[in-house]
Amino acid sequence: MLFIAFIFGLIIGSFLNVVIYRLPLAIQGGHYSIIEPKYSICPNCQTRLGFLQLIPVFSFLIQHGKCQHCQQKISWQYPIVELFSGLITLFLVIQFGFNTTLVFYLLFIYIATALLVIDFKYQYLPDILTLVLLYLGLLFHLDNYYNLNAGVLGAVVGYLSLWSIYWIFKLITGKEGFGYGDFKLTAALGAWLGWQALPILMSISAGLALVFALFKRVKLSQTFSFGPFLLLTGTGLLFMQRLL
Ligand SMILES: [Zn+2]
Repeated sequence: MLFIAFIFGLIIGSFLNVVIYRLPLAIQGGHYSIIEPKYSICPNCQTRLGFLQLIPVFSFLIQHGKCQHCQQKISWQYPIVELFSGLITLFLVIQFGFNTTLVFYLLFIYIATALLVIDFKYQYLPDILTLVLLYLGLLFHLDNYYNLNAGVLGAVVGYLSLWSIYWIFKLITGKEGFGYGDFKLTAALGAWLGWQALPILMSISAGLALVFALFKRVKLSQTFSFGPFLLLTGTGLLFMQRLL
């Protein structure tokens, strides 16, 4: 059973890679959609992948990280996302067993993973993912009136607090500190965590972002995405709420 959970996670990870690659292209109005073309292709030479090349992680290893047709290097993102998805699925099945909590936590972590990689690569957070995450957070609390209250407030206060910081920052410096995607992501995390968690979510995320900026020597004029720090902190807090 655990082995099946791991394989299931790998396959989902493989699908997440498709979403990460195709969703930004589809939004920009390319000829891709999430389901078209129905087969997987090499992003460089457009060659259709064979059966062996579709097996998560394993295909990356047997091809030595290169496309067999055009020798273009395949990004490490592919096996890392697949392996992470496999391992986290295994971990959550062990933690929760098979029940609705497991389903919600899996959906949370899959969507969060896609959002994190997309924001890191393209510096934006697609609405379709942030909003679905928000609705799932509210649905998750539907059976508990107290938690649902905290979640609704969390979504509203989360959105408005980042929105206010954005405008204050913009009025003072004339620059945009965040994108609108960050407001929606904070709303989604607020829905999952409840409004009480927002101050700690914001301060740890900001702290992590600051450490990253100093470490990478990001210049004041440069922008980088804030979403990954929100997602990492939010995921950590969610698991701590449940497991501690
Ligand atoms: Zn190729």
